[in-house]
Amino acid sequence: MTIKLVMLFNIAICLAMGTALLAAWWRDRSQAFLRMIGLAFLAHVGLPLGWVVMTAGGEPARLAGLAILLATGLASVGLIALGVAYLAHRPVPAKRLPVMALALAAIGLVLLPLGERAMFGSVATLQLAVALTAAWLLWPQGGAERLAALLLLLLTLNHFQYPLIGPEVAARQAVVGSLLRLALGLTLLHAAVRRSAQESQRTRDRLGHLTEHSHQGVAVVRGEHLLYANPALLRIYGLNSLTEVHTLWRDATMPESERQGARERHRQLISGEMSQASWSGLRYRFDGTPIRLRFTAWRIDWDGQPAEQVVVTDETAQHDATAALLHQATHDELTGAPNRSALQARLRELCAARAGFALLLLDVDRFALFNEAHGPSVGDAVLRALAGALATALQGRAEVMRLGEDEFALLAPGDAPDRAAQHVAQAVRELLAQPLPLPGHEFYLDASIGVVLHPVHGRDPEALLRAANAAMHEAKHTPGTSLQYAEQRFEHGSGLSLLAEQALRAGLRNEEFSLVYQPKVDGRSGALLGFEALARWDRPGIGRVGPHEFIPAAERTGLIVPLGRLILAQACSQTATWHAEFGRGVPVAVNVSPLELLDPAFPDDVARLLRRHGVPPGLLSLEITESAAVAHIGALRGRLAALRALGIEVALDDFGIGFSSLNMLRSLPLHAVKIDRSLIEPMPAPDATAIVQAICAIAQTLKLEVVAEGIESQAQAEAVLAAGCTVMQGNLHARPLAPEEAGRWLARSLGAPLRVLRNP
Ligand code: C2E
Ligand code: CA
Ligand code: CA
Repeated sequence: MTIKLVMLFNIAICLAMGTALLAAWWRDRSQAFLRMIGLAFLAHVGLPLGWVVMTAGGEPARLAGLAILLATGLASVGLIALGVAYLAHRPVPAKRLPVMALALAAIGLVLLPLGERAMFGSVATLQLAVALTAAWLLWPQGGAERLAALLLLLLTLNHFQYPLIGPEVAARQAVVGSLLRLALGLTLLHAAVRRSAQESQRTRDRLGHLTEHSHQGVAVVRGEHLLYANPALLRIYGLNSLTEVHTLWRDATMPESERQGARERHRQLISGEMSQASWSGLRYRFDGTPIRLRFTAWRIDWDGQPAEQVVVTDETAQHDATAALLHQATHDELTGAPNRSALQARLRELCAARAGFALLLLDVDRFALFNEAHGPSVGDAVLRALAGALATALQGRAEVMRLGEDEFALLAPGDAPDRAAQHVAQAVRELLAQPLPLPGHEFYLDASIGVVLHPVHGRDPEALLRAANAAMHEAKHTPGTSLQYAEQRFEHGSGLSLLAEQALRAGLRNEEFSLVYQPKVDGRSGALLGFEALARWDRPGIGRVGPHEFIPAAERTGLIVPLGRLILAQACSQTATWHAEFGRGVPVAVNVSPLELLDPAFPDDVARLLRRHGVPPGLLSLEITESAAVAHIGALRGRLAALRALGIEVALDDFGIGFSSLNMLRSLPLHAVKIDRSLIEPMPAPDATAIVQAICAIAQTLKLEVVAEGIESQAQAEAVLAAGCTVMQGNLHARPLAPEEAGRWLARSLGAPLRVLRNP
């Protein structure tokens, strides 16, 4: 009865402890010793079973029981040996296991016939060897391991009771064994728990060490709260500790436009809709300094609840370096102004956006000579001063860029590029009229300026730059600071002239064309002798454009005919108005294109117009260019005669550049020649004066009136007068005037002829 209870107690303890050890191993597989010793405990259940079988009676039962006891004892010894090896961190290599098993089986076969006491004695001796080895291995580890070794030794010694004393101690041995086993099991569990704790602490320490010393910022975020921030993160944001943060983290560090997106991203990460996210952007340190950060984030469990872990890399330095490189690549070293590649980028951008702009290329006149005279360092100072002065003068109006050496680009975006160009040019003229602000020097500079307008002169950056450059070189021919618009008017090429045609048609339909009137005066008295009507086009979104920009396109597309009629009608209507107002008038000259004159109906149409508006024919005159007359002399002769017969006078325009022969001059029914501006410009230079003198002499012989065009200075006026020409037209006397202003001129001249007429 007693022995049976003892056996049950033994079985219960072995089962309980074995299961507990295995369960502990199941939780933490790294502790393999738990499995081996747990299995040894379970195997030990075989001992009381074997005992029961052995003592059941009869020789076969005795032998079977002995075999069970022997097998159990050996298996237990083997498993404990393996467990101890693990516990001592010296696991037995897997390939040795079969050898071990074979050895134990062989020992079992040898021991089986020896009888139970000898057999138990041998197994106990084997256990003793294992226990002593365990003690030797585990002793240095101290703590629970040392206690386990001690308990194992005691357990082994306990096993010697039976072989040494005899079956009468079996019950005592079993009770002591059970208690020792219980203690051993608990000790091992304790060791396992301690090892687990140590291991996870070590892992935590390692991870903590990694984040605490990381150069990357690490943060844990939940909702609006920062739950954790490593030192690097605090450093990146300019903080000493998280306690310094008194506002919501996102509000303090993020541009407002990104906050909503960030909250949404956080929600998706936390909910698992998104497993990982990477982004980068502008953030602010707590002192307000902008920084550039790159982020990677994913979801983690933090204190049992989902949170977002963010790893932050500070890329401010790289960003700044890239920006500096970019600045270097797009800016001029000497003046700090944007350079040619910056201009090209801007032009591409504006052209792509179809935005209107004026581009003025400004080249300093004779800068090479200046450099030679004063040395390159003064030259550099001049360029720096010029760049600075241009930037100041044009601030808010145009971007100033330096393209190289003494060449600058002034870019004025805007819907009315023509006006923008005029404003910029005016500002530059005013600037260059003053000495450059250079300490210790007083330098005046002249510059030649080429102007292009987008989209009037072209639509792609290359074409615009070429045209501006050509215009600038053209401007170089004029001494002093001078401005030249690009030559190209509408883009050539099939598709684009279609575009010009559309625009012209719309302009005609919407009455966007009007006339301005430039006075012709007597150079001696200043008396008003007549007006020249000059066409203007007020293009919506572009501004006022001059005839150079649309007459050629109108001629190319044939629209010059309706446009010319419109202009004639406007001039007639205006003349009629003045005639009605003052009772008298001065002739108004209208420019006509040769294509209009080639139309046989032209003289009749003009006559009809005059009649309709009630304009005396003597008040209308026409101007045709010399080159047109040369090209179409045959057809023109009859037409001019018809006009002449109507009482309408015709002047040969732009005379002196179109190779007309004296014979042609004589044979055409003309009343005047207008000397081209390019011949007047170099006056009073002696050779230019001589040419004008010769033209005046010929005109006198042929009984033609002579008009000098483009008079800009008093010196030119005096030289022209001395050369024999009295009728003058030019900005010196008056720029082309709006009809009301021209009306005031007319009123003054008809009232009392003014002595000296000057540009008002
Ligand atoms: P144009 O007949 O030789 O007209 C004189 C041009 O010289 C005008 O330019 C006038 O503004 C400009 N001008 C006058 N005084 C000065 C001066 O002192 N300095 C300078 N630099 N320029 C001065 P605009 O108005 O641009 O006309 C250019 C040309 O366009 C005209 O040259 C004429 O050939 C043509 N044009 C103008 N209106 C019409 C028109 O209604 N029909 C036709 N078919 N052609 C026109
Ligand atoms: Ca003219
Ligand atoms: Ca002319």
